Amino acid sequence: MSQQKILIWYRNDLRVHDHEPLFRASKTQGQIIPFYCFDTREFGHTGFGFPKTGSFRAQFLQESVANLRETLKNLGSNLMIRVGQPEIIIPELVTALNLTNLVYHAEVTAEEIRVEKALSKQLQSLGVTLTSYWGSTLHHLDDLPIKVDDLPDVFTQYRKRIEKTSEIRSCFPTPEKLPPLPSEIATGDLPNLETLGVKLVSPDERGVLKFVGGERAGLDRLKDYIWQEDCLKVYKKTRNGMLGTNDSSKFSPWLARGCLSPRYVYEEVQSYEENRVKNDSTYWLIFELMWRDYFRFVCLKYGNAVFYQTGLQGVKIPWKEDWQQFTLWQEGKTGYPLVDANMREIATTGFMSNRGRQNVASFLTKNLGIDWRMGAEWFESLLIDYDVSSNWGNWNYTAGVGNDAREFRYFNIPKQSKMYDPKGNYLRHWLPELRNLPGDLIHEPWKLSSDEQKEYGVTLGVDYPRPVVDFMKSIQANQKLMK
Ligand SMILES: Cc1cc2nc3c(=O)[nH]c(=O)nc-3n(C[C@H](O)[C@H](O)[C@H](O)COP(=O)(O)OP(=O)(O)OC[C@H]3O[C@@H](n4cnc5c(N)ncnc54)[C@H](O)[C@@H]3O)c2cc1C
Repeated sequence: MSQQKILIWYRNDLRVHDHEPLFRASKTQGQIIPFYCFDTREFGHTGFGFPKTGSFRAQFLQESVANLRETLKNLGSNLMIRVGQPEIIIPELVTALNLTNLVYHAEVTAEEIRVEKALSKQLQSLGVTLTSYWGSTLHHLDDLPIKVDDLPDVFTQYRKRIEKTSEIRSCFPTPEKLPPLPSEIATGDLPNLETLGVKLVSPDERGVLKFVGGERAGLDRLKDYIWQEDCLKVYKKTRNGMLGTNDSSKFSPWLARGCLSPRYVYEEVQSYEENRVKNDSTYWLIFELMWRDYFRFVCLKYGNAVFYQTGLQGVKIPWKEDWQQFTLWQEGKTGYPLVDANMREIATTGFMSNRGRQNVASFLTKNLGIDWRMGAEWFESLLIDYDVSSNWGNWNYTAGVGNDAREFRYFNIPKQSKMYDPKGNYLRHWLPELRNLPGDLIHEPWKLSSDEQKEYGVTLGVDYPRPVVDFMKSIQANQKLMK
């Protein structure tokens, strides 16, 4: 039996399928110790003072870790759990357990890289071999046709090159059996989230889906969406919907915590194409996963610039830090129903559709002219599917400071509202005070006459706010500023 004692450091890769570090460790005949550390810094506050990990994501994370432990137990192993800082705890474990190897999946953004670097320095001096693997994207970093530094700033150019030249690698097999943990190991309990500072709240019943953390639930969702409900064949047509459980895949929370591997999603799509149908919808899900990859590679290319106010392009814009207007946006009280419905959804469930995210981000930056990082941090706090690269990359893009920042672009909120929620069902779902408004009036309640206000029982400024800014005037003013 080999003398290797391998610590598998789990991070945003909470699964056993398509997990290269686990698979390779399982082939060594050494001792394997799967390990997860709840990093206390993740439960602190963002720069603008929001809880860094809000209740919805904290619960999803805890469920994911609990499910990983269950799965590893079923394979004969277990998951060691600790709370603290990995770069302090892991070196202590190395000494206490005579570990020889540390294996893990690499991350790309500042806080995560800082931990990797601190660990690497300490562990090398302790004679431990560190091996990091790339496993978070559809296309492997080593298979990019270009160096990351030469990554195109326009997504389409990236996509065309990668589609032409690179294959997607196969998934790593799931180990059928794992060795038991050494008997001297105290496995540790799941932490109480409240002691980590999380103020627990239950998600609103009106949410689009009950998101349960973990690989099991992620695989179930995938099976449901693709195979049971057959939604993949119409995905391209439905994906912009905001209300339906199956409008889009809702895979994002599981992808973000690594409970689902994007390569596994790809293999399932391929199998669907072979066994049921291959069309523009099946392609489009993969297309969206390429966006996800792209933002990760963008973050690798640009480093910390993705978090700077000036963004990836270093654009200086006189952003405002107007807390009064920002609070109206946060609370869904801007007087623009599409923005308000979406902001109430995210605040009470931790989820918002892609269409919603684009609109509310555009409104915050292009109508209110508020510092886009306040919005990005608010999303970071709330989103159940928060992913550093996807969140900050998309915010850069929408604010006009990111890659492909061409002319001043904005979303026409009333028009988008009519286009993507033609009957106003989504708005009625989240804005009960506007439930009785008929037809187009629900999209533009500021047009209600006083007679109509009486008739439909909505007094503007009392039951529902008047618009916080005039739509076109605010766009024009910000366009001038941002030039
Ligand atoms: C301002 C803003 C912030 C965002 N923050 C996040 C975030 O923190 N985490 C996150 O996963 N996504 C983020 N997105 C992207 C996108 O909104 C979500 O991935 C999507 O809404 C998740 O729903 P779904 O799984 O049903 O998506 P689907 O439409 O079913 O797409 C399938 C998958 O493709 C990926 N994907 C789709 N669109 C994008 C995109 N624009 N960028 C990156 N990946 C994409 C996701 O992994 C998603 O699960 C953000 C978008 C915006 C505009």
